[in-house]
Amino acid sequence: MGLWHRGVEIKTPEQIKAMRRAGLVVGETLAELRDAVRPGMTTADLDAIAADAIRSRGATPSFLGYHGFPASICASVDEVIVHGIPGDRVLADGDIISIDCGAIVDGWHGDSAITVALGEVPEQVTELLRVTEEAMWRGIAAAHLGGRVTDISHAVEAFVRGQGSYGIVEEYVGHGIGSAMHQPPNVPNYGRPGRGPKLVRGLALAVEPMITLGSPDNEVLEDDWTVVTTDGSWAAHFEHTFALTSEGLWVLTALDGGEEALARLGAPYGGR
Ligand code: MG
Ligand code: MG
Repeated sequence: MGLWHRGVEIKTPEQIKAMRRAGLVVGETLAELRDAVRPGMTTADLDAIAADAIRSRGATPSFLGYHGFPASICASVDEVIVHGIPGDRVLADGDIISIDCGAIVDGWHGDSAITVALGEVPEQVTELLRVTEEAMWRGIAAAHLGGRVTDISHAVEAFVRGQGSYGIVEEYVGHGIGSAMHQPPNVPNYGRPGRGPKLVRGLALAVEPMITLGSPDNEVLEDDWTVVTTDGSWAAHFEHTFALTSEGLWVLTALDGGEEALARLGAPYGGR
């Protein structure tokens, strides 16, 4: 475990390096899934690929058994926002699928999600994916030493609102991460800046906007996991785990550590 200070877990540079190993397992697993996913597969097929990818790297899937969750990924298709259970649903051309994945290496966690379009989708769906992914990056890039957690929240919301009429899901939020997948503080995807715990060296957070084409209102299906939009509108979900280091930001679940996106957004890269 890291050292707890003012309600958050502070990681040493060595512990952040261990989290990078977990993050790379997650990033590489998601890259494999992005390459593999195609119409005709089931979401259970994707789960099997993910379990193999994680275990073949000597890591443990963190989702499996988490509060009884029965799989190694969440697979959320079309109007499913998050927490879809992999099963016999067959993916079709024109679907979108959000894949959320977590892994543990030496007790340290990584957590990341992508949304992928299968074949041709309408322009507004392509835009939904672009806006959601970029909102995540804007949120991460808004983090800096001495700032506050809701600086991230505000940057996510401001970007999304500036892009058009989208729904921002409020019930599910980003989080601290480290020796457990979910730790304080919460990282909402909306709100005023300058609030919440201070952003300090050694803090690691998962930023994960969930954005809808219609209303953000949602409900949980009878399986007690699957979260769907109430109006049936489609939803996207992107997530990365990042750490604040003395040099800047290190996106632990991005294959390049976030270097390219952070440079584009003018935020210091801290993965050296
Ligand atoms: Mg996740
Ligand atoms: Mg998460």
